[in-house]
Amino acid sequence: MNNDRLYRESLNLFPGGVNSPVRAFKAVGGTPKFFKKAQGAWFTDEEDHRYLDLCMSWGPLILGHAHPDVINAVTEALREGFTFGAPSRRENALAKKIKSMVPFVEKMRFVSSGTEAVMSAIRVSRGFTGRSKILKFEGCYHGHSDALLVKAGSGLATFGEPSSAGVPKEVSYLTSVLPLDNIEALESFFTLHGSELAAAIIEPMPANNGLLLQDLRFLKRLRELCTKYQSVLIFDEVISGFRVSPSGASGLYKIYPDIVTYGKIIGGGMPVGLYGGRSDIMSCVSPDGPVYQAGTLSGNPIAMTAGLATLELLDETLYATLQKRGAQWSKIYELIPGCRCPHVGSILWPIFQPRVKQSSEIQESSITSFNKLHQGLLSHGVYLPPSGYEVTFLSLAHQEPELSFFQDQIKKIITLQGN
Ligand SMILES: *Cc1c(COP(=O)(O)O)cnc(C)c1O
Repeated sequence: MNNDRLYRESLNLFPGGVNSPVRAFKAVGGTPKFFKKAQGAWFTDEEDHRYLDLCMSWGPLILGHAHPDVINAVTEALREGFTFGAPSRRENALAKKIKSMVPFVEKMRFVSSGTEAVMSAIRVSRGFTGRSKILKFEGCYHGHSDALLVKAGSGLATFGEPSSAGVPKEVSYLTSVLPLDNIEALESFFTLHGSELAAAIIEPMPANNGLLLQDLRFLKRLRELCTKYQSVLIFDEVISGFRVSPSGASGLYKIYPDIVTYGKIIGGGMPVGLYGGRSDIMSCVSPDGPVYQAGTLSGNPIAMTAGLATLELLDETLYATLQKRGAQWSKIYELIPGCRCPHVGSILWPIFQPRVKQSSEIQESSITSFNKLHQGLLSHGVYLPPSGYEVTFLSLAHQEPELSFFQDQIKKIITLQGN
């Protein structure tokens, strides 16, 4: 079947024809492709067009698609059953591996998505502190739970407003939203509300509205203020965890949260999330404590196995390689007139404007240029994420042949655009 027929069919099945909104291509125009298989850095749609994948399922696939070690481990595990609804050694194995890489995670709980991890981290923070308010930052994404689908209120109000229909104001009122990279705003907020604040949550390396690299002074100050006011500091490392270093952004910056959330890479392509950190906080979680949180498929043995097989291949050498390749790929993006490409390791963000530290600084003209690039590259066999607000990911499978293919296509596009 061809892509368009599948798309027309899916429009009758799912809102917008998709099971997650950005996949619908609304931001970049055109219609989504339907994929049937993938290997390494490449995937193939239903019409047998092959694409070099620079979206990589939005982050989980640091080893590339269908890595043989992951397939072997998962195949072996599948033969022993899909789910037990009871403990298995595979949960311990992944948890021990994670603890060895990020020792500040003293105790953890597996869940099935990043959204669930963050939602649970907020709940345990509220349970631990006995407080209700939370603080987030504009431009960070933390999944789609009610408390976090909130944007800054108007004027000086510290109440957040729902950023989605269906989120009650009564819920959004408990969430305050501050700009990133603004120490003054942070300090006056804590002076006024610090003692009522259950938790502050931030992506230490914000990568959901482009790559908004923060001044470390800002993160350090946030850490100090949370300690001073005894609010829980949550780092949402669902993207940056195990992506930018073996110990994520926390390890890279040497700034540690009280609770961290992971997802994406820790499932190796299967649905896994995790929240964890200080054992005194995690001991509030049921059945040790009064904070309820549960999951039928939490710690699923197949997902644990895919995650472990992935993490086992992540060592310092791999990150050094990815860092080097990130720099090479970034240079190729920058062959495009007007394009700049900030990157950390294997996270790259092509933009058409000067350095950005806050989401409000992203210019519409930059997004328009990205959309043109997206369409051009798609017709040349390169698949960028279908939104200029999203970062592009490399994997271990993005090697020399992929790099030169990418360079060739970029050059063709530059010629076509008559630059
Ligand atoms: C992807 C992401 C989430 C949500 O994870 P899902 O698995 O999509 O629910 C939360 N926080 C961050 C930082 C993310 O990048």
